[in-house]
Amino acid sequence: MATAAPRIDQFFVLHATRNDRWQAVADQAREWCAGGQRPDGLVEAVDELAVLEQFHAIPGSPTVERLRGLIESGDSDEAARLARHVAEVLMLGRGSDLADEWEAEEDAVLADIVPSVVAPGEGRRPYFEVLYVTGQEEPRWKALRSQVRRLRRREDQFVYEPVFVGSVEDAICATVINPRLAAVVMGENVTLHSRHDAPVIRELLEHASYAKAAGGTGLELARALKRIRPELDLYMLSGRNVEAIAGDPQADVLRRVFHSIEEPVELHLSILEGVAARYETPFFDNLKKYAQRPIATFHALPIARGKSVFQSDWIRDMGEFYGMNLFLAESSATTGGLDSLLEPTGNIKKAQDMAARAFGADHVFFVTNGTSTSNKMVVQALVRPGDVVIVDRNCHKSHHYGLVLSGGQPSYVEAFPLTQYSMYGAVPLEAIKKTLLDFRDDGRLDRVRMLDLTNCTFDGHMYNTRRVMEECLAIKPDLIFLWDEAWSGFAHWSPFLRPRTAMGAAADLKDWLANPESLDAYERQQAELGAEPSRETLMATRLVPDPRKVRLRVYQTNSTHKSMSAIRQGSMVLVRDVDFPHVESQFHEAIFTHASTSPNQQLIGSLDVARRQMELEGYGLVMNAITIALKIRLAVNGHPLVSKYFRVLGADEMIPEQFRNSGFVDYLSQGVNWGKVLQAVHEDEFFLDPTRMTLVCGTAGFDGTSFKGLLANRFNIQVNKTSRNSVLIQSNINNTRSDVALLLRVLVQVCRELEEGGGTSTDGFKRKVHSLMTEVPDLPNFSRFHDAYRKDGGASTTEGDMRTAFFAAYREENCEYVPLRSAEIDKRLESGPELISANFVIPYPPGFPIMVPGQVLTKDAITFMRKLDVKEIHGYEAARGLKLLKPDRL
Ligand SMILES: *Cc1c(COP(=O)(O)O)cnc(C)c1O
Repeated sequence: MATAAPRIDQFFVLHATRNDRWQAVADQAREWCAGGQRPDGLVEAVDELAVLEQFHAIPGSPTVERLRGLIESGDSDEAARLARHVAEVLMLGRGSDLADEWEAEEDAVLADIVPSVVAPGEGRRPYFEVLYVTGQEEPRWKALRSQVRRLRRREDQFVYEPVFVGSVEDAICATVINPRLAAVVMGENVTLHSRHDAPVIRELLEHASYAKAAGGTGLELARALKRIRPELDLYMLSGRNVEAIAGDPQADVLRRVFHSIEEPVELHLSILEGVAARYETPFFDNLKKYAQRPIATFHALPIARGKSVFQSDWIRDMGEFYGMNLFLAESSATTGGLDSLLEPTGNIKKAQDMAARAFGADHVFFVTNGTSTSNKMVVQALVRPGDVVIVDRNCHKSHHYGLVLSGGQPSYVEAFPLTQYSMYGAVPLEAIKKTLLDFRDDGRLDRVRMLDLTNCTFDGHMYNTRRVMEECLAIKPDLIFLWDEAWSGFAHWSPFLRPRTAMGAAADLKDWLANPESLDAYERQQAELGAEPSRETLMATRLVPDPRKVRLRVYQTNSTHKSMSAIRQGSMVLVRDVDFPHVESQFHEAIFTHASTSPNQQLIGSLDVARRQMELEGYGLVMNAITIALKIRLAVNGHPLVSKYFRVLGADEMIPEQFRNSGFVDYLSQGVNWGKVLQAVHEDEFFLDPTRMTLVCGTAGFDGTSFKGLLANRFNIQVNKTSRNSVLIQSNINNTRSDVALLLRVLVQVCRELEEGGGTSTDGFKRKVHSLMTEVPDLPNFSRFHDAYRKDGGASTTEGDMRTAFFAAYREENCEYVPLRSAEIDKRLESGPELISANFVIPYPPGFPIMVPGQVLTKDAITFMRKLDVKEIHGYEAARGLKLLKPDRL
């Protein structure tokens, strides 16, 4: 096998197709049984499986070898039975089911490789796998496996099986391919290269700066593995100087170092303890205990303990619907095993600290009123009245309202428009740098406090977070960053997406700042730029910040409920701020301002549990969500009938070419492999989150809103937001391949109905498509604040005192209403007096403010409003017209 080694190509897809491959082998074996003739491809298919299974414990290499033996000896019955059994068990999917099933398997040979997962008389224990990277010869692995198994004890909280590999490359492969791994044990004398020809691994090594692993020392491998999956516990076994290894400053990536010949039991216990440390959910565990205790309550919360519900004839159905535990776990107490969200000192604090560890932050704050509140908290905590915040005008309304509350002055920057689909992309770095340089040239850079952006955007644009922060810090070294990652909290658990998250980039930047070569890089660039570089030069240069001056201050907010298993409104604020001690008290004020004094226990519990899940299976879940997304993209765009009417937009259509330096076109284009994807992740200004899919439906004659309604009402499919001619489909950690099949079937049916109605050739259809796809309104840019709100504004900048405008409208005599379609509007657009918005006007979709308080309205905005065909427009009463501030009263 070593000579004709199969290539390990595209291993994400490999992982995803593991079940399919087993199924195919089972089918071929069945064919063999039935027909007597061994199918040609069977041996090859088993060879391919052998490569994959060596990275898994169950069914793993021994099973494949056994299957191979059965095939060679011509035992078609037994081969078919074994293959079918494996395929069925893998379909079950869940780790403990999988291990359980092996337990039930009676076969004598298999019994040898079966873990005893269920101790007699006990429930099912969670199951994981441990990777052993060993210098021992392969023939020894069987004996090693038995040794590891013998360490199991009935009282162990979890059960695991070992997986053995003998090289650095195979270790990296296993880490990427096998989502069940929870720990890695690294031995010595490990070779570098895989036994397999692995071009994709080599690309990965090159592009993802895993290259250092090629040095081959254990610590370098450990660092490489941590970059792929930071949640893994790493152990090192060494026969040499363990004290020296443990003392190496690089060794902080290791959980423990063991002398290789001693203490296998200690290693076993450490592995279990490491997983237990992630399994622990301090708040939720206590909440469960609390619910079990007999407690009489004399506080104001009648439904606590459920008595007011279950004893009532009239509302008992609520109790039956939600179940007893919901009420047993209700409390307004902050003692007796619970904690206070507003001043956590006990298990909420511990749960938040664990979330910080999991998400790569220094501090985490749980928020129970959604990211809408998280954003307002961060803005209030960090922005003083009069401070300038450079902010994406297209961001969620909580940022705009946060600025009204704090008195911060927005300096709006515009995202690039995707006019054809009536949506915005993200803000080009050029626009941000230009704004910062404008403030610098006006001598007012000290006024700028924060850069506030959405990452990723609703439609899936991910910033090059690291580059944005680096270049901004080169101009203003103490700038604070708020990244609204409402949608993308899950991205931390994918090695592809993590570098594009706020915390991922902050970690990389921190490493960069600590590296002595960074100062050289800065000084080299300074020398090249000379004393007084022109604006053009600064705009055209990828700026390097001065590592001696940078204060790294990064905040991220995420709607844990949008991408992980938290209950609706569960949100987190993640902090990596070297100056946090100086703002901590303000931060607490912001919490006191915005957090309810009656936070919901179940919500806090779910945040704790969501963290546990991601630390133990997030990697596999996110990999699955990405795989599902790729399948949807392929299924829709590759289907002969469906693709005639619908398509999912690729990166090339969602991101203009100038922001894709790598030349990345799309995931499924010819010649794109993961190496290319990685290059795009690292280099491109914007990158498309694969899990967010814009499905164009205008080409099928549907506007977004009606198509969304059709999917919901006729087919029970809920999709995310809509635009004039598209709907947004999102895959997440709960999707399965059946969902892909359902979606495709529905699209096929819709297309058939369109065909029956005459298809694309009728005039009515052509007219509709034309209207939806070409008569699209231009998206209005932010015009400007009225001079009355720019009294301390700079000459070349655009920030404005939105708060004063907002509260001016609180006096009725300051306001007037003018009907949108009136002649008066047209007249005033022509010859004044100026139209000044009194409030926010936010249509859904697109969901960003077309008007903000104090903004002068231009023809663009009015035209857009007049063309808008959506029903929900916050801040606009059609019957009364636009609410304006009277110019003569300012
Ligand atoms: C949903 C969302 C919010 C608000 O989050 P909630 O948890 O719904 O309060 C903020 N920002 C963005 C970008 C969002 O998509």
